[in-house]
Amino acid sequence: MPFPRVPTRWFRTLRVRLTMWHTLVMLIAVVGALAAVREGLRFYLLLESDVVLNDEAKELALAIRRWYPNHDQIIAEMEQKAAGHSDRGWHVRWLSPDRRETIWASSLSPQEPLSQVALSLQGHKVWVSDQYRSVERRLEVPGIPEFYVRVGTPTQFIEGDITRLTRIAAPVALCIILLAPLGGFFLSEQAIRPLQQIIHSTVRLRPSQLDERLPTRGVGDELDQLAGQINHFLDQIAEHLRKNRDFVANAAHELRSPLTAILSSVEVSLDKRRSPEEYEELLFSTAEECRHLTQLVNQLLQLTESETGEARPLTEAVPLDDVVSRAIEMFAPVAEESGVTLAAGSLDSVVVQGDRQPLRQLVTNLIDNAIKFTPSLGRVSVRLSKDSHHHEAVLMVADTGIGIPSEDLPRIFERFYQVDRSRSRLGNPRGNGLGLSICEAIVHQHRGTLSVESHLGEGSTFIVRLPLASA
Ligand code: ADP
Repeated sequence: MPFPRVPTRWFRTLRVRLTMWHTLVMLIAVVGALAAVREGLRFYLLLESDVVLNDEAKELALAIRRWYPNHDQIIAEMEQKAAGHSDRGWHVRWLSPDRRETIWASSLSPQEPLSQVALSLQGHKVWVSDQYRSVERRLEVPGIPEFYVRVGTPTQFIEGDITRLTRIAAPVALCIILLAPLGGFFLSEQAIRPLQQIIHSTVRLRPSQLDERLPTRGVGDELDQLAGQINHFLDQIAEHLRKNRDFVANAAHELRSPLTAILSSVEVSLDKRRSPEEYEELLFSTAEECRHLTQLVNQLLQLTESETGEARPLTEAVPLDDVVSRAIEMFAPVAEESGVTLAAGSLDSVVVQGDRQPLRQLVTNLIDNAIKFTPSLGRVSVRLSKDSHHHEAVLMVADTGIGIPSEDLPRIFERFYQVDRSRSRLGNPRGNGLGLSICEAIVHQHRGTLSVESHLGEGSTFIVRLPLASA
């Protein structure tokens, strides 16, 4: 069933949200840029105005010092300077040495001399207010007490320039802001199109038909990465489903054989009246098949649990040497009966953090297999050592048995995989190819590793590495 499509309100769609974000960002950027240009221009024009005032004040001071030692001539010169720049509202002021008293001021001068010093330009003070700026020079002229001369200008002309620029830039900014939603819509359209392809492709996917893959455009952007990740995930799901299908088919197949055997024993016993010996024999073989069935069902449950069940906490400190020596004791009669020498090599005392029962099963499965696949007069040796460098317990179960063909080695841990059913020694209980899968599950549960080295006709060595319990 396809994923139910929830009706989305238009303003919640990705397209509209991207468009709105784009518009908002453009609005902030344009308004910010306009404000920055205005402030930058104001700073530059004021600085330039201060430089010009400074030059003019210097020129005036030089002229007064050199040519006009007379009071009236000085005023005339200052008046001329102010009149020369009256179009920009310039004024000139003659101040007493303490700068408090105005001795003379040109017509456009502010009421009071400016009293706030903003900065120093080339070593000379620049006096500022909200509406004026002026630059001063100190003069000593023979015959006249020391005085200051200030040349100033109102800032309204600079503000006028800035307003003019704003009037030109504002319509442009407005156009950009008005066009921003269109640009946002176009951009979001471009960004969303590959997403829509992904949505269309995923709609076609079915659990039973997982061969469909999402298209990638080969540009390696985030959407390609997303499609790649989803494809990878689909590969994993498909592989998982394939394994599960095989597992169910194999399990059904394995369950069918003992059930068929049980059914035929029951049918044979019901067929006609039989002697007590014959009934005994039939019941014996039925019980044998039931035992096999129970073992198989238990193993299947164990494997399913290890895959889907919650990982059990590994809290017990298990002395692995104890588990191994008990297993060797248990298998001694079986080995003797099979004519195989079961030898315990050095067994270091090691403790691992885990669950005793599954660890016992791991060790017995490996020893059981080693005896099962070793002809009489062969040898099975078990060794347990401590790898302090890697902080691991190392268990080795080696046999001089029939070995495993190299092409089968990578598959022997798969569920139900058996190299060749006819290989197990006659008289041994028949296997079902689940033992090593269970061993691997137990080792993984204990955060360890299980590996095998084997040569056909020479023997096999199974190596288990488990982390040591911390002291
Ligand atoms: P089975 O129930 O058949 O023993 P396992 O999962 O324990 O299933 O083993 C899978 C297969 O691996 C076996 O069928 C056998 O062919 C091979 N195998 C396992 N252990 C050994 C061994 N020690 N020597 C040779 N072959 C082995």
